[in-house]
Order: sequence, then structure tokens, then C-alpha cells
Amino acid sequence: MIDDVAEGGGVCAGVEQHVGGRPDLAELVGSSVVAVDTASGQPHVVLTFDDGPEPGGTDLVLSALAEARATATFFVLLSRTRRHPSLLADVVAGGHEVALHGPDHRRLTHLHPDTVAVRTADARRELEDVTGRSVRWFRPPYGAQSPATWRAVATAGLTPVMWSISCHDWRDVTDDERLEQIGAMDRPGAVVLAHDGFATLVDGVDDGPRPNLDRGAFVRSLLEICTAKGLSGCSLETALQTGRAVHRVWLDQTNPNHECG
Ligand SMILES: [Zn+2]
Repeated sequence: MIDDVAEGGGVCAGVEQHVGGRPDLAELVGSSVVAVDTASGQPHVVLTFDDGPEPGGTDLVLSALAEARATATFFVLLSRTRRHPSLLADVVAGGHEVALHGPDHRRLTHLHPDTVAVRTADARRELEDVTGRSVRWFRPPYGAQSPATWRAVATAGLTPVMWSISCHDWRDVTDDERLEQIGAMDRPGAVVLAHDGFATLVDGVDDGPRPNLDRGAFVRSLLEICTAKGLSGCSLETALQTGRAVHRVWLDQTNPNHECG
């Protein structure tokens, strides 16, 4: 089933090679969650949103999720949570899972591993203090991860979560193109990469102009496709209540798929 999930979502060039993992790889260097084995029968698709919280993004995504009674995992930036604490509180109040994307959006593979270990551990503590929840998951900006940064993140007590389907919603492409991989899904278990914000100079990076899209309308379209397929969107923690995490060794320092994640 897991390899089939990968085939359904393998359009994201440069990421495809990482997808289709086995569930027995959790201890290997570079091991990251990329999908969920839903053999128990729950038709879950894991929805993940990166780079928030952001006014005009997170609030719209939360409304769309609430309308569909769906949950998601939000990989937040502390450069955002400090500026928009009420939006982070709204994420928690909505029953969603909060995970860490980083203190900012700088590429970890450009930093010293000791620096990565300290800043990631500090960020985890800050996020747990603010939310009152334990934080388990981490997604490195751009999906960029080396053996050294993976070990640093593991030292901070976090497990990397990558993705098996990308919505390309950080690019100025059509919604049809953004939903192409969602439309190709033919079974549950994928981890879907989407965004409720767009990293900018305040997050320590310059990735060009933000894409032009209504994130609320986009998420509604995404959820409608999932519903039509009999799939239900949920957070990773919810999916793992009945499913099992599927790991893949993901070591990608340059991320040939440009700015994924
Ligand atoms: Zn990101």
C-alpha cells in the first residue's frame, strides 16, 4: 500500500526518489516520516501547512478546515508565532496539531550542526511553553536535511516529517496545477504539503514574491477532492491513532525541487 501511495504522489520531481518507504527505517540516519500506513482501514490523508501563522492565510485555512470538520498539522515558524500569537492560539483552539518548522526559515544545511541543535531545542521549548502542548514533529525548511542536521534535530527530541504529495502552493501556478497530485491520489496514507503562509525577510530568507492565491478557497478545493475520493483530511497525530508512521531516509541538502517546504 505504501509504495502505491508513493506512485500516486510522485509528481514532485526530486522528491519522488524519497517516497515509498518502509515502516522499519525509523532508526536510520535521515529517517523521516513521509506517509502513514492506513491498513487499519481509516481513509486518512495527513494535511500539513507550513510557514505560518500569517494573517490572511492561517485564518482562511482554519475556516476552510472547520467547515469540512478536518484537522491538520501546522509546522510553524517562531518568527511568525511571536508576531501573531493569537493566530497560533486559534490553531490550537481549532483542534489542530502544532509542530515546528524552525525559529525562522533559514536552510539548516547552511548552518553549523551545533547551531542547529541549540536553536532547534530552544525553539521546541518556546513552542511548548506557548502552546502548553508537547511538540513531536519537525519539518526542515525546504526539506533540506543532511546527516549532521538530522542528528541535531534528533538531539532536540524531534522527528522530521517530510511529505509524499506537494501542492506547489508557494509558486505562481494555477490551482489546477497545485491540485494535480491531490487529484491523482487513489488511496489514503499520503502526507500532503501545503502552506498557510509565505516565508519572507522577517523569517530570514528572500524567496521572491509571494504567490497570488486565496488560501481558503484553495484548501476548500483540496478538501472537496479528498471528500469525493472518500478520503478525510486530518492531522498526523490523528492519523497515527489508527495508522502507523512510514519512514523513508530523506537526505537532501539542496532540494532539487526548489522551494518545497
Ligand atoms: Zn517552509
